[in-house]
Amino acid sequence: MDIVDTAQRQQEQLLSMTLANHRAAWGHGHQSAEYCLECGEEIPAARRLACPGCSRCRECQEEVEACR
Ligand SMILES: [Zn+2]
Repeated sequence: MDIVDTAQRQQEQLLSMTLANHRAAWGHGHQSAEYCLECGEEIPAARRLACPGCSRCRECQEEVEACR
């Protein structure tokens, strides 16, 4: 039972972290996300400043735009 409890707690922790990350990404208008929504990599501050409202790292953004 202990192992199940621990796994469940870790799962909840991960979920709340993910939710907080998404809230940070979407909750403030055009503020850039701190972490890429696709791969979870940290987005460099220079990119966040250069591209306000971006929510992906450069690599993922290029992939998204290439698909359009
Ligand atoms: Zn990415």
